[in-house]
Amino acid sequence: MSDCIFCKIVAGEIPASKVYEDDQVLAFLDITQVTKGHTLVIPKKHYRNVLDMDAEAAGQVFAAVPAIARQLKEKLGASGLNIVNNNEEAAGQTVFHTHIHLLPRFDQNDGLDIQFTVNEPDFPALANLAQELYLGE
Ligand code: 5GP
Ligand code: ZN
Repeated sequence: MSDCIFCKIVAGEIPASKVYEDDQVLAFLDITQVTKGHTLVIPKKHYRNVLDMDAEAAGQVFAAVPAIARQLKEKLGASGLNIVNNNEEAAGQTVFHTHIHLLPRFDQNDGLDIQFTVNEPDFPALANLAQELYLGE
């Protein structure tokens, strides 16, 4: 896509600090570095986000994640790592070319605060919702 910033990075039209590359996938440092080593893993082919991908394309991107994640953790001495993927504006997506954020974690004050709301479990509601959503064959 001609007006996509990540397609331009793939094409070498704008620079990026690359940390991994294969035929289908590219990983490079995010310019904002929310935590040290903050990396984006992207498919070289343009997809708007995960909702736009088939299993094969998504599999190729995620297949690259473990090795990059281990490299970041080991080389930077991180204690852990968050994997974040935003799909559509409501979820915070700002660049509309699929990307997986890898965020090395160091301690509680490393610049990233991901907090889930903890609700009391409603088991009948969970069962009903799962029945509605079930995708099994
Ligand atoms: P999103 O909010 O869509 O999940 O994440 C988009 C990410 O892309 C942001 O973290 C932002 O810092 C990063 N980003 C935007 N433009 C560029 C760029 O030109 N180069 C790099 N390396 N990262 C970018
Ligand atoms: Zn693109």
